[in-house]
Amino acid sequence: MKIKALGVAALILLAACGKHPSPPPSQGVTDAMLQAAPEGEWLSYGRDYNEQRFSPLTQITDKNVTQVGLAWSADLDTARGQEATPLMHDGVLYISTAWSMVKAYDAKTGGLKWAYDPKVPRETLIRACCDAVNRGVALYGDKVYVGTLDGRLVALDQKSGNVVWSKTVVPNQQDYSITGAPRVAKGKVFIGSGGAEYKARGYIAAYDAQSGDELWKFHTVPGNPADGFENSAMEKAAKSWTGDWWKLGGGGTVWDSITYDPATNLVLFGTGNAEPWNPAAAGREGDSLYTSSIVAVDADTGAYAWHFQETPEDRWDFDSAAQITIADLNIGGQQRHVALHAPKNGFFYTLDAKTGAFISAGPFVPQNWAKGIDAKTGRAEINPAARYEKSGAIAPVAPTFFGAHSWQPMSHSPATGLIYIPANIAVFPYLAAKNWKADAIGWQSALDFSVLDKPAMQQAGAAATPAPSGALIAWDPVAQKQVWQVALPAPLNGGTLATAGNLVFQGTTLGDFVAYSADKGAKLWSFPVQSGVGAAPMSYAIDGIQYVAVLTGQGGASQNISRLLVFRLGGTGKLPPPPPMIARVLDPPPYTGTPAQLEHGSELYGRYCFACHGLSAVSQVGNNPDLRHSAALDDAKAFGIVVIDGALKHNGMVSFASALKPEDAEAIRQYVIKRANDDKARGGT
Ligand code: CA
Repeated sequence: MKIKALGVAALILLAACGKHPSPPPSQGVTDAMLQAAPEGEWLSYGRDYNEQRFSPLTQITDKNVTQVGLAWSADLDTARGQEATPLMHDGVLYISTAWSMVKAYDAKTGGLKWAYDPKVPRETLIRACCDAVNRGVALYGDKVYVGTLDGRLVALDQKSGNVVWSKTVVPNQQDYSITGAPRVAKGKVFIGSGGAEYKARGYIAAYDAQSGDELWKFHTVPGNPADGFENSAMEKAAKSWTGDWWKLGGGGTVWDSITYDPATNLVLFGTGNAEPWNPAAAGREGDSLYTSSIVAVDADTGAYAWHFQETPEDRWDFDSAAQITIADLNIGGQQRHVALHAPKNGFFYTLDAKTGAFISAGPFVPQNWAKGIDAKTGRAEINPAARYEKSGAIAPVAPTFFGAHSWQPMSHSPATGLIYIPANIAVFPYLAAKNWKADAIGWQSALDFSVLDKPAMQQAGAAATPAPSGALIAWDPVAQKQVWQVALPAPLNGGTLATAGNLVFQGTTLGDFVAYSADKGAKLWSFPVQSGVGAAPMSYAIDGIQYVAVLTGQGGASQNISRLLVFRLGGTGKLPPPPPMIARVLDPPPYTGTPAQLEHGSELYGRYCFACHGLSAVSQVGNNPDLRHSAALDDAKAFGIVVIDGALKHNGMVSFASALKPEDAEAIRQYVIKRANDDKARGGT
């Protein structure tokens, strides 16, 4: 009897302990260091808890940046998109690469200390919207944390790279993936997932930094009301949804930004689009909370604190997932503790970081989805013409699902007071898919992505779909206005780094690494890095020398040379000469399809192929191989072996047998052959 009673008491004690995280580390990387990083270190994705990406180092300045050269470089063993920001602690540089691999280098010499490969199954690509990318690791105590594309959270030993623990943290491995960098605070690791183009229900969770045990989880969208709600925030959110949204998960995934604010003990995070994009496909009306929002929860319990929805009734993939920066700004003569945000929807928001109260907003790129922003509440008034599913017609909307600004990090200089945004300028013809049904494979957006092939678009010509471009925008978050801008010919340029040397560093899609003066935007220095850059640079110092590091390599059809590059004043390092650009010549077999086959192939391509291989069979930055150049086009059987039998699944091209029949594969092949021949006739490559 006594033993039994003891047993119950012990169980109760254990259960109670299970709710308490391990104490924060007192050695290695601590909470105090993450709150105010040592000058020469870069300890978390956005450098420290504020996520400002501002280096206080002043050795490299606007006066001497012309003398910057390469200190050392390291070739990476993957040529896919590199999105990580390196971290530096105690003389060691930590990076993650595509396929969620982690590497540690001597930050002074570039010597490789260790490498870790989680061996992500390549088939995982089919449920990752945007290549096999990973945006970085977290350092805490004596460990390194990484989320893997297939949904594991892994703790590694900082010294050896050995696995300390590894847990699958996503609800399932069909719809969820992890590409974002974990964040850490108070003995916990915070991470969410991607998947709002599939059938994911968004969430963020906290895991014990020592054991990996889940401590709390906050869903961003309500589940099936019949199952009951987890908390009052979900019950309240459910009132902003109609239809049977939960069948497709609802979206709202927390795939990038997570900011711990020690001043308020809140975790702020940005949520992704509602799923499916096209609301009519799920009978969805209303705001669909808490999608396309910033949400704040208590760091200890995960309890809801506040939300601010930037895009009500999202139907354009206007994720609010981009980085959230915390700052103390003088606004109207008052010091305000604010959250700064530049989401995909094209407006820059300044919010009260403690309450989420709207302070101000302004459009940083051309946009037409909103008629304006309510000056009191910050709520956007939606332009009815942008509700493409209501009209059933093609609606050209700016910005687009690329995002006016997405994961490519922005930076904030307290010296200039400005935010440096890697922005995209684009318009896309949104068109609701007709007779759409959910499927077991691929994107579930319910948009017609064969829209560019429609006769109306073909007749409208190139003017209807101007090529997207980019811009580096210096933005005043108090006045909500642009201070300077550098126009960039291509979109999806790299993230930015601001420094106390009055500099802003940014890599470009076209393969340059550039320094501008932070106050005026004067181009002061550039270095040809031989490959597109999407990732953000960072800066650190060892033995009195300041370094700037950046990863190169963008996924897609362009030349990808994935490297870690490290610069310093007087650096004399040289990159090996780039391999000669292979001239791409379109050489398709003759088109032998029927009009019906062509139309069917176009629709199927838009449904199943575009997300990885590009709109209208043209591969762009971030895409996979351009199918117009595929040797498999020559042979119907070979094409079918890839599409139906999954012959290239080791490369991520899985079998589509669950959705496509052999005659469907042949229609897609004929469509791609037609596209290739048309482009060849136009002199395209
Ligand atoms: Ca999205």
